[in-house]
Amino acid sequence: MSIAHWVRDIEDFPRAGVGFKDLTPLLANAGPFAESIRLLAAPFRDQRVDCVCGIEARGFIFGAAVATALGCGFVPLRKPGKLPAAKIGIDYALEYGTDRLEMHADAVCPGTRVLIVDDVLATGGTLAAAGELVARTEAEIVGAAVVIEIAALAGRTRWLWPAPLHALIVYG
Ligand code: AMP
Repeated sequence: MSIAHWVRDIEDFPRAGVGFKDLTPLLANAGPFAESIRLLAAPFRDQRVDCVCGIEARGFIFGAAVATALGCGFVPLRKPGKLPAAKIGIDYALEYGTDRLEMHADAVCPGTRVLIVDDVLATGGTLAAAGELVARTEAEIVGAAVVIEIAALAGRTRWLWPAPLHALIVYG
């Protein structure tokens, strides 16, 4: 059974008009969860990834597991005010309002080969901001991996790095 079978569509969540891609059924089932991690990591196995940067919150779940699969470390990209040590941050626009991602300033050294992981690519603002934040550390971005891409929202067009953006399931 394909992993898409384990994605649940919830209409009008968290607000009217949004079709939420609920990945909790996939996470709750060992086989599909393991398969999703294997597939997320597969294109990057020979890319000498030093570190996975996962985006809060569901990007932590997938990103940490992908880091283990690739035999590398994990760095969280967090919502504001959560990280205890010196940090850098980036503000970015949402459909309504703004948001911010932060990372520890010493988490990634220049030249570190980084893979960015999140659960869903929608408008692409979050992933673009993550890329820009990681790029400020002078790390080398080797790619991004998401479980789901909502192609109708064209988020891929905002991924500006010359590195692959890998999506397991693409919805129209
Ligand atoms: P965006 O910046 O619009 O690409 O939104 C991506 C972020 O918002 C990801 O971190 C997702 O967790 C979340 N997200 C956006 N749209 C959805 C959706 N339809 N279903 C589930 N998560 C979503």
